[in-house]
Amino acid sequence: MIIVLSPEATPEDVERIVRRVEETGHAAHLSTGSERTIVGVIGPDLPVLQDMFETMTHVESVHRVTKPYKLVSRDFHPADSVIDVGRGVRIGGPEIAVMAGPCSIEDEAHVVGTARAVRAAGATILRGGAFKPRTSPYLFRGHGLDALRFLATAGEVTGMPVITECMAVADIDAVARYADIIQVGARNVQNYILLDEVGKLRKPVLLKRGLSGLIEEWLLAAEYILAAGNPNVILCERGIRTFETSYRNTFDINAIPLAKELSHLPVVADPSHGTGKHQLVAPVSRAAIAAGADGLLIEVHPHPERALSDGAQSLTHEGFASMMASVSGIAAAVGRTLATPLVPA
Ligand code: PEP
Ligand code: MN
Repeated sequence: MIIVLSPEATPEDVERIVRRVEETGHAAHLSTGSERTIVGVIGPDLPVLQDMFETMTHVESVHRVTKPYKLVSRDFHPADSVIDVGRGVRIGGPEIAVMAGPCSIEDEAHVVGTARAVRAAGATILRGGAFKPRTSPYLFRGHGLDALRFLATAGEVTGMPVITECMAVADIDAVARYADIIQVGARNVQNYILLDEVGKLRKPVLLKRGLSGLIEEWLLAAEYILAAGNPNVILCERGIRTFETSYRNTFDINAIPLAKELSHLPVVADPSHGTGKHQLVAPVSRAAIAAGADGLLIEVHPHPERALSDGAQSLTHEGFASMMASVSGIAAAVGRTLATPLVPA
């Protein structure tokens, strides 16, 4: 349930209403806009409570929220959330943030080289996989802790915040020590124990949509993280499985404007996994930005044909630079710009 206060409500009125919400055994969540304060009531939406809150002074209206997710919903927080990911980089504001780097980190020179290349082409966040979820147990599964250290070094050298996937609760401390953003991948988006645990941190979490995940399931997964206390969640559309086999996944462009309508969280696009084909990455990136994406997550490798994972969808360093040039015009056309790196390379 949400309680919309009238513009005249003073901080004391807000406090009185929050106290009343808490007396009913519910938690209160405040969203302070430029005109109005909204008090989110977290718990069962009982009609009797609606009647009670409606009679309170300075309550303009009371709405029952029928959606199963609350804290991630735009009803609770009408303004866009902007997530500070460190080193002066933010996701969700007017600027589009581009995260780029290898699918898997192969060695230090590899990730540092790609970090420099993507940085020079305009990326502001470095990605790299250390713990890799692979469909077959016989494929390369990442260099783990060593790779986390190589990634952190590459971030230091280039001044970029870094993002990497955490697959297990047991690895959270190590990943959080080295990463500025923790990625929860498509296979783990419904690992509720992992979501609870990353929810206990304040570190930003990039939450991918599941392989066949419904939008509602994805938003409910984000709700777990917010409900555990971490508001810093970035949603990532990475394609879903459909009947089509000509490409790896079907990038669901609809998901971007819909997730942004339903939720205040930033939404970024991963056209690398969303297509599985390097030649589709630039056009689908442009489409994602046109549809309102707040950022891109792009796989880049100096020699995709030799990559230990996801070579077919990886852009070369040169391919990434030309993709960046081609998306900036689309960003301008929808009233946005690509984020400019704040720290000189
Ligand atoms: C990745 O980012 O390399 C990855 C494994 O992504 P996803 O979880 O979307 O498959
Ligand atoms: Mn990958």
